[in-house]
Amino acid sequence: MKSFTYHQPTEIIFGAGKVQEVGDIVKKYGSRCLVVTTPAIEATQPMYDRVIKLLEDAGIAVAHYDQVIPNPTTQVSAAGATLAQEHKADVILGLGGGSSMDAAKAIAVEASHDGSAWDYLFYKKEPTKKTLPVISISTTSGTGSQVTQVSVITNTEERDKSALYHPLIFPAVCIVDPELMVTLPNFITAPTGFDVFCHAFESAIHPGSGAYIDLLAWEAIEHVVEYLPKVLEDPKNVEYREKMAWADTLAGLCIASAGVTLPHGMGMAIGGMYPHVAHGEALAIVYPACTKFTASSAPQAYGRMAKLMDPELGDLSNEAAAGHAEHAIVKFLKAIGMYKKLSDVNMPEHEIEALAEQCMVLPDYENNPKVATKSEMIALVKDSF
Ligand code: NAD
Repeated sequence: MKSFTYHQPTEIIFGAGKVQEVGDIVKKYGSRCLVVTTPAIEATQPMYDRVIKLLEDAGIAVAHYDQVIPNPTTQVSAAGATLAQEHKADVILGLGGGSSMDAAKAIAVEASHDGSAWDYLFYKKEPTKKTLPVISISTTSGTGSQVTQVSVITNTEERDKSALYHPLIFPAVCIVDPELMVTLPNFITAPTGFDVFCHAFESAIHPGSGAYIDLLAWEAIEHVVEYLPKVLEDPKNVEYREKMAWADTLAGLCIASAGVTLPHGMGMAIGGMYPHVAHGEALAIVYPACTKFTASSAPQAYGRMAKLMDPELGDLSNEAAAGHAEHAIVKFLKAIGMYKKLSDVNMPEHEIEALAEQCMVLPDYENNPKVATKSEMIALVKDSF
């Protein structure tokens, strides 16, 4: 067997109705909590009110930072950190999708250290033990951020999307309650659900993978292929939401231990240069081109994935099915309404080369089974355009 290491410190509280326990959970880590969310909308206001009331009923002093934006920026982290300091917060609760959970992690660092969260990116300074404890409640399925040591953040001035990556920002506890997810509209369920597939699949083909990750990753992939189309048909179905939340949590455990590859490297670059493009949407755009580029270098995984997505390939060996992987992924993306190109999201054509350069900034593309050269990266971006 290939050797591997696996480490996961986040306590996972999973199940319908589990949000009810938030007061007792947070109380173990502090008595002054900053709740971090996106601005309330009709769908999320009752959930925010409920969580804040549960915290207050448990005797916790609450401040609410509600200005997180999708693809959170350094400005979001700075404003949240200022409020955390004013409130003398000793614990940060991220309530929402990846943007809120990641913003909570960045705020936990920025509120307790000099400088900005951007100074603590994975290749810069390390955060210290002064980092405030983070609790996460995920409301999308999703980014897996509830179980990762990653906080993705965008610097709009530099048109760069990068990440804090450190064991100190693993949430101490996460609550994954599928009942909180039934309000998600399909235009969020589809890209976030596709992101789950990407985390699991890219972890399975990552050099850091191994027997344990394989187990988690393929369980997650099978769940997404089966339940993402179903939940899009029946968004209020708690059982389908639960299956997707389980897949999301498994896929998060995968990226926390293995990692992501070429599509995420490209997706992050797209998000940095064009912040209006949702993370899962950017991934959906680049997946067909990345699949065509990589499939023959990891035929077992691509063939297995293709056979799950296109049951008509069922009789083929994995090697033979890998030749149909691009077609299978396109079929799946069309089924979930996510088949699109960079030109559909208003990327200017003259920036193709600049985007290709940006796709090679994060190390993710180097962890792909086939590593793109600069000219191959330009071709991948053109193919996705
Ligand atoms: P998101 O957090 O940006 O949320 C998208 C929208 O959904 C928001 O407007 C939010 O208000 C709304 N929403 C959330 N929950 C809802 C609910 N239950 N009902 C109705 N509306 C709801 O979306 P996301 O895809 O979860 O997160 C994307 C961010 O996560 C990106 O910045 C991405 O780069 C990052 N990310 C982080 C990791 C990690 O490991 N930390 C991994 C992948 C992606």
